[in-house]
Amino acid sequence: MHELGIANDILDIALAEAKKHGNRRITRVDLEVGVLRGIVPENLVFLFGHVAKGTIAEGAHLAIEEQPARVECGTCGTTEARVFTIGCPGCGSPTARVERGDAMRILSMEIDD
Ligand SMILES: [Zn+2]
Repeated sequence: MHELGIANDILDIALAEAKKHGNRRITRVDLEVGVLRGIVPENLVFLFGHVAKGTIAEGAHLAIEEQPARVECGTCGTTEARVFTIGCPGCGSPTARVERGDAMRILSMEIDD
């Protein structure tokens, strides 16, 4: 359940950002999350809604954009993974290189005005 810690981190960042804008209400947060983080987006959305209760981010919409991982597989030629994987998502080869796909950043936020 590491999504809970992440939900808290996102909230902290969002609140700190909103503070710079006069603590106005946060209505939307766009987040990029790499698939290698192994996060279930629905869980993160749910938990964010939970931790945001009672703050200026309560009710904010968390939109998650999943960043695919780049794969270099010499066996089958797969180039991309759209779900969490350790080896090649195409043929299962453990020698495939899997990189990127570990992003975790807020792309944008909408603040009420
Ligand atoms: Zn492969």
